[in-house]
Amino acid sequence: MKLELPRIAVVSTGGTIAEKTDSHTGGAVPAVSGKELVAAVPGLAVVAEISVHQLCNIDSSQMSPQIWAELSQKVNELLADKDVDGVVVTHGTDTMAEGAYFLDLTTRSNKPVVFTGAMNDASSADPDGPGNLMNAVIQAASADARNWGVTVTLNRYINSARTVRKTQTTNMQTFMSGEKGYLGYISGKKIYRINERVHRRHLPLPAKLPKVVYISMYAGADGSLVRHAVDSGAKGLVIDGVGAGNVNKDVYEAIKYGLSKKVAVVISSSVYFGSVEPIYGGPGGGKTLSDNGCILAGNLKGHKARLLLILGLANYGNDYEKLKELFAK
Ligand code: ASP
Repeated sequence: MKLELPRIAVVSTGGTIAEKTDSHTGGAVPAVSGKELVAAVPGLAVVAEISVHQLCNIDSSQMSPQIWAELSQKVNELLADKDVDGVVVTHGTDTMAEGAYFLDLTTRSNKPVVFTGAMNDASSADPDGPGNLMNAVIQAASADARNWGVTVTLNRYINSARTVRKTQTTNMQTFMSGEKGYLGYISGKKIYRINERVHRRHLPLPAKLPKVVYISMYAGADGSLVRHAVDSGAKGLVIDGVGAGNVNKDVYEAIKYGLSKKVAVVISSSVYFGSVEPIYGGPGGGKTLSDNGCILAGNLKGHKARLLLILGLANYGNDYEKLKELFAK
């Protein structure tokens, strides 16, 4: 009796996995469709029944929350389909961690959703795309890969979308999850679970996404970028502070200007590990910022804190208590 194969939907968005070196410029550019990516890995046919869906074909440096909203809509439709057992998203690695987190927040299913891509393009001597696609499909097709939320899987390691970061500009083993560690890994055709997903939050996908600006604090910053963001209509600000979430007095004054204009302000930290804490007083210290109405991002890094604030503002408006609760876990 022929065993039914799992049915996996592959949604292709572009990225290095789908790029080739342009013969005129010598630079890598989008060149391969999702169908061609799947056709280039014949071994997939014994792992799963694949359907291919082309959302776009762009380098992920060009991605936006608006495109991720379209992607989330598409993935939600596929997850709701009883004839789909899991979803693989092929995506560029530059913004993959953020895109995966956006879908982690806005899709709702226990079925696996696996982001994958490549660090070497299809023109290179050692393209990692085909192997990453095979492993992502193996994961998405596996009953052992459920209840992890959205994951980022390259080079056989499985990372949670909530904790994963791109840590090396060109190395294949670039995605890591710091103090959390990997959720698991793939060896042969088997999934090895070594960690669990502790907490996952869901926010409805809004029709419109508010403007939220991310600004990094640095020694000598004069606060002008913060004031410009407020005056140009930002509904929210994420200020990537130094240390446990501190800024200088000029940035602090600019933040207070934003708060006075009813702009929601979240303080994240540019430090790799650990949480933002209300420790330091004085103009710009984390405790002063918190006492004056800023929301502390916990251990969520700035780029992802911006996505959570976008979705929080879209769903709750500038409701301080609700937004604070969003960042509490
Ligand atoms: N620049 C590429 C992208 O993010 C890098 C990659 O996919 O590895 O689309």
